Amino acid sequence: MKAIVVHQYGGPEVLKFEDYPDPVAGPGEAVARVITCGSGLTIQHAKAGRRQIKFPRIIGHEITGEIVDVGAGVTSFFYLNCGHCRYCLTTLEPLCTNGGGNVGLECDGGYAEYIKLPAHIFIKYPEELDYKAHPAEMGVITDALATPYKVLRRAQVKGGETVAVIGAGGGLGIHQVMMAKWANARVIAVETAADKFDACRKAGADEVVNPRDGGVVEALRDLTHGAGVDVVVDYVSTTATQEAAVRALGQRGRLVILGGAAQPFHVPARDMLTKEQAILGSRYVTRAEILDACDLVARGEVWPLVTVVRPLAEAEAVHDLVERGQVTGRAALRVA
Ligand SMILES: [Zn+2]
Repeated sequence: MKAIVVHQYGGPEVLKFEDYPDPVAGPGEAVARVITCGSGLTIQHAKAGRRQIKFPRIIGHEITGEIVDVGAGVTSFFYLNCGHCRYCLTTLEPLCTNGGGNVGLECDGGYAEYIKLPAHIFIKYPEELDYKAHPAEMGVITDALATPYKVLRRAQVKGGETVAVIGAGGGLGIHQVMMAKWANARVIAVETAADKFDACRKAGADEVVNPRDGGVVEALRDLTHGAGVDVVVDYVSTTATQEAAVRALGQRGRLVILGGAAQPFHVPARDMLTKEQAILGSRYVTRAEILDACDLVARGEVWPLVTVVRPLAEAEAVHDLVERGQVTGRAALRVA
């Protein structure tokens, strides 16, 4: 088969298009023919060496494909969870204690004509989803849409609450804006890239705050008449963004941290106590949350924002855009 195989970190010629042996399913495994695969920052981190992987490696998750010989439309779970530990059995699969890592990082992923995975890692699309007409959009549901959906549940966002999204113009951030709006929240996008403000508003942001103008905390407090916001979702997670986020929280405010830099930060403990605030970590999603997100798309309540779809052979060019933050929403590669 043809595949993009990574043999080393960094440099412009990392994403080489080459012949690679077809995967063969062993016991408990299945092989899918890949149709599209998302191109996000997680795999860009692996390509650039900011996330360690073993070589050679086919990168890529957020996959739409068809199980070979069966023809059923499937996507894949991002985590190689075991399926039988206490976390897997209580629908907390991302916390699996026997986890084998991530698809496209610790095992070969979707930048190829075929992908082989343990059969239980594949998730069949609901009949209502037309994955043949919109394979890239359906593929990115598994992460870029399902993760923001899960965050709403993790933070128990209620209609009418104010939700600020830090990194709102990014691949997950823009979908968080979309999902928070779907949940009837008032949404404030926090974003430094001025060329993404329009997309943030289109996705549902009621206001956009640019940290480059200074005073994010003051801006968020002003927009809530001094009360502070109910929820901040931080997709950047540097020391500075997280410390600004906690200071912008109101009474019973919740900060959700996920992805990004995951740097350590200081919390004003007295405020946490007196205002009953909470800090929540959020790790990927469950299969059930993927199916919930699929249902939302099937009902037409939300639609994944995929603005760049290129052939597999153009992976290098797509990752240039991802690295420079020039993709609005998600990019994906078309394989078949
Ligand atoms: Zn498990």
